Amino acid sequence: MPNASRTALLVIDVQNDFIPGGQLPVPEGDLIVPLINRLGDRFKQVIIAQDWHPPGHASFASSHPDREPYEVIELPYGPQTLWPDHCVRATAGAELHKDLNLPHAQLIIRKGCNPDIDSYSAFLEADRKTTTGLAGYLKERGIDTLYLVGLALDFCVMFSALDARAAGFNVFVVLDACRAIDLDGSLAAAIERMQVAGVDLVSADQVPG
Ligand SMILES: [Zn+2]
Repeated sequence: MPNASRTALLVIDVQNDFIPGGQLPVPEGDLIVPLINRLGDRFKQVIIAQDWHPPGHASFASSHPDREPYEVIELPYGPQTLWPDHCVRATAGAELHKDLNLPHAQLIIRKGCNPDIDSYSAFLEADRKTTTGLAGYLKERGIDTLYLVGLALDFCVMFSALDARAAGFNVFVVLDACRAIDLDGSLAAAIERMQVAGVDLVSADQVPG
């Protein structure tokens, strides 16, 4: 890995609830775990993002009367897709997938912890103002290049990639180490948004190291 100390792997939301059998399953979400483990071996710097909601979170359909999962409602910060209850903090569904093997990861950053605000992105919550502190952590450690993998490509991976670009990082998304929900064309839209923003879309065999 060239510039190993300036490059990090950011692993997004590889958690039980996003795996088939979980509360908000991403199709084939489990299939990427071995590839992420192999990629992880090539990075000195690994950061893990974990969706981590309090019970009754604003993104849960069950928190809103007469609403169903996958409806979109207006919250004070803008439109919010409603989801099944998922990744409730300190539950089995919120745990990282048991086969994820990244013992050298130095930071697990939890997001979506604010009961009233969702956070697809590992950098900025959905109000687009509240930061998680991740950009500051990376910059203080001299990291300028990120490779993103994980779930779901068209939500949390995409928003993390866009925010990383906006924060000035070189950003690569490793497509074969991601899977998408693909809700109403969200996958195609995500690919386009990332390309327009200057995110490099690559495959695992293009990752140096
Ligand atoms: Zn969530």
